[in-house]
This record gives sequence, C-alpha cells and structure tokens, in this order.
Amino acid sequence: MHSRRETRITWASETKNGAIMHIAISGAGVAGPTLAWWLDRAGHDVTLIEQAPDFRTGGYIIDFWGVGYEVARRMGLEPAILEAGYTVDRVRFVDKQGKPSASLPVSVFAKQLDGHFTSLPRGNLAALIYKSVEDRIRTRFGDSLASVEQDEAKVFCTLTSGRTLEADMLIGADGLHSKTRELVFGPEKQFERDLGFRVAAFKVKGYRPREEGVYVSHNEPGISMSRFSMANDETLFMLVYRAGYAFGARPENEAEVRDTLRGGFRQAGWEARAIMEAMDDADEIYFDVVSQIEMPSWSKGRVGLIGDAAACVSLLAGEGTGLAMTEAYVLAGELQRAGNDVPAALTAYEHRLKPFLKSKQKAARSTASSFAPKTAFGVWFRNLVVNLMGLPFVADWALGGAVKDNFELPEYEAPK
Ligand SMILES: Cc1cc2nc3c(=O)[nH]c(=O)nc-3n(C[C@H](O)[C@H](O)[C@H](O)COP(=O)(O)OP(=O)(O)OC[C@H]3O[C@@H](n4cnc5c(N)ncnc54)[C@H](O)[C@@H]3O)c2cc1C
Repeated sequence: MHSRRETRITWASETKNGAIMHIAISGAGVAGPTLAWWLDRAGHDVTLIEQAPDFRTGGYIIDFWGVGYEVARRMGLEPAILEAGYTVDRVRFVDKQGKPSASLPVSVFAKQLDGHFTSLPRGNLAALIYKSVEDRIRTRFGDSLASVEQDEAKVFCTLTSGRTLEADMLIGADGLHSKTRELVFGPEKQFERDLGFRVAAFKVKGYRPREEGVYVSHNEPGISMSRFSMANDETLFMLVYRAGYAFGARPENEAEVRDTLRGGFRQAGWEARAIMEAMDDADEIYFDVVSQIEMPSWSKGRVGLIGDAAACVSLLAGEGTGLAMTEAYVLAGELQRAGNDVPAALTAYEHRLKPFLKSKQKAARSTASSFAPKTAFGVWFRNLVVNLMGLPFVADWALGGAVKDNFELPEYEAPK
C-alpha cells in the first residue's frame, strides 16, 4: 500500500472544485457517457477511460426504444436522436430467389411502443450522448485499466499507459467483454451464456440492389443474411449463423472470420454470392459470439458494472442500448438517493434492476430461434407468424412480452 501511494500520479489536482466525488468509468460506449451525464449533473467529477484512440461514429444499425428511450427524453436527446434516425418502413423476408415470403411493417412495433421507436447507427447514438457531456468531463482515449485495487474509502486504478488514478467509485461500462469485470470479478467464461449463434456485420459502398427503408432478410436453416441501405450509398450487412452448421470452429482473427463466412454462406441462395464478394471490399468486419452475461452480483465494494458488462441481453433482444442507458440512469439516481454512499447505492441499483434485466434476457432467449430457425419448417412457421402480425392480437401475442418493458422508470429528485 505504501509504495503505491508514493508512485501514484493522481488526477486529484485536476478534480473539479467543489465536486462531490471523483468517479471513474471504463468505457465510452452507450452506458458510460449516459452515466457520466447524470453524474455530472449531480455534481460529481467524472473521468471516462476509453480504449479506442478517439470517438467513432457509425457501426451497425440499432433499434432504439423502450424504457431507455424515456431516459434519452429526460436527457433532452430525443430530437437529435430522431434526426439521426433512419426511417425503416418494413422488414421483408425473402426466399432463395429473392421473392418476398413474409413482410412486417415496422409500424406494428412502433404501435406497441406508442411511437417511441427509431433506428440509427449505434456509434451515432453513443456520440450524441457523449457530445452532450464531453465538455464537462475528462476523457482518456487510447487507455485501459491494467489493475484495480480498493479499500474501504477508495479505488486505485493503474492504466495500461502507466498512469494511475484514485476514485471514490469505479464503474465498468466496457461492454460484453468488460475488462473491469475480468479484473475485479474474474474471467468472462464463468458469467457468459453462449446462445449458440455467431454474428458478423460489415458495411460497403455501392452495393446493388438498394431498397430505401426496407430491412431485407433471407433465412435458410441455421443461417440469416440481412441488408439495409444506408446514407452515402452504403449498405449494412448482418450475417447470423448457428454455431457449427457448416461453419466449423470459432474463427480467431479477421482472416479466419472472412474464410469462415465464405465457407459457410457459399452454398446459400439469394444474394449470398454477391454479399460474399462485397465482403472483400469491407475495411473491417464486426464478429462476435452472441452471448448474455449473468452475474451473481453487479458490484464488489466500490466497483460496479452497467450495460453489457453487467447483464448483456445480446443483440437478439434488440434493446441493449436502451437497457444500458436505463442502468446508468438508475445507478446515478440511487447514488443520490443513498446520499452518495457508494456500496449502498450499488446494492440498491442492482436490487431495482436485476429482475427486469433477467426477464429481458429470458425473453431474448425465447425468441432467439426465430432469427435463424434450425429447420425449413421453422423458417416457414416464422414467416407465417410474421405475416399474421398485421393482426393486432397476433402482434400482442408474438411481440408483447419481448417488446413491452415491465419496468417503471423511477423519478429521482433533481440535484440541489
Ligand atoms: C450486431 C449487433 C446488433 C445490435 N442491435 C441492437 C439493437 O437493434 N438495439 C439495441 O438496443 N441494441 C442492439 N445491440 C446491442 C447494443 O449494441 C449493446 O447492448 C450496447 O451497445 C451496450 O452498451 P454498452 O455501453 O454497455 O457497451 P458498448 O456499447 O459495447 O460500449 C463499450 C465501450 O467500452 C469500450 N471498451 C471496451 N473495452 C475497454 C477497455 N478495456 N478499456 C476501456 N474501454 C473499453 C469500447 O470501446 C466501447 O466504447 C446490438 C449489438 C450487436 C453486436
């Protein structure tokens, strides 16, 4: 303990005058900047640590809705989010020849959600949140946690850059593969539930055909290929497959990812060949296991987790961003309510949200199969349900449980 104190170069001298506490957040994605916004508003001094060298916009398209949409409204971000959003009119499933086999107007979802629904690139949502607070906080880009220790009063972090920092609370908002979780709670494997799917996403310019406002998707047993026409003549592709299914072992690097996808999708119909050719022009490919995170506890002492780091619901839930924002909002609110007693606030935050997150994870697991049905019959049945969803009672049955949020967003007093 003694030597650590001697060598530490803290940022205490930079701490804002009159700040209540210094709070460090690992990860400037969706959850991290949302938490920073609410903590700054409550008078705390916030340091964000982000491993990327700078803030990146773009990325895959997300649907944004639910209780997190209300958090964004409370932050005054709704107009900017809607402006950045794409109008998606419908989701269309096509067969091997490209002929429509099922079609669902997005208004069916929007109606279930009282119109509080939009779609936008994940990075653009994150950037809108970040820009609304960046001038009032400190961000360390290109850095990451290397070690974390804590005592009853403080958390002591060493970063990969060699810098050290001392904080009253450390929050891991560093996503599905959270470094904070690994350092403080243990290896990811023990908390990960592999849902048996793999996902790849990439973007290219100039792909044809283009269909504005339509999310076009093709399924064959065990696989799903989708494309969405974006601004600037770009097309986003999302490929999902069931682990195994002619794809072999999990690829370990980008070259292996490309080979695996080519090998697995080679035999598929529709635009599979053209999409594989387009993939050659993609500068980068996102690839990951589709998994959820389930932890016995979201905090240890003065260190807590939010967003995907704490309770990833997976992309199959289609709501991870909104839930990440909700967790950030509730944690900041509970901190205020607990009079800035960090361990008490972390416990109250988990207590309030965990049952809801568990129900969201369960709902995602129960609908997971419809993304890439196992059999031809499964594809046919999914298409039948999609076609029937125009009928309100079918939409209620098929979507209600997964789409509607059974969680009342708490009201917290405005900081004095
Ligand atoms: C293909 C795909 C489609 C999806 N579709 C939807 C959808 O339609 N709707 C929806 O709501 N959600 C969707 N999601 C899920 C959603 O993207 C996540 O749930 C959400 O981004 C979680 O937010 P987060 O802030 O917890 O993590 P992230 O957004 O992943 O942010 C984590 C941040 O931490 C940083 N980081 C990572 N490691 C470190 C480190 N060691 N040190 C410092 N920083 C670090 C990362 O660079 C990143 O900036 C989808 C996900 C995928 C993969």
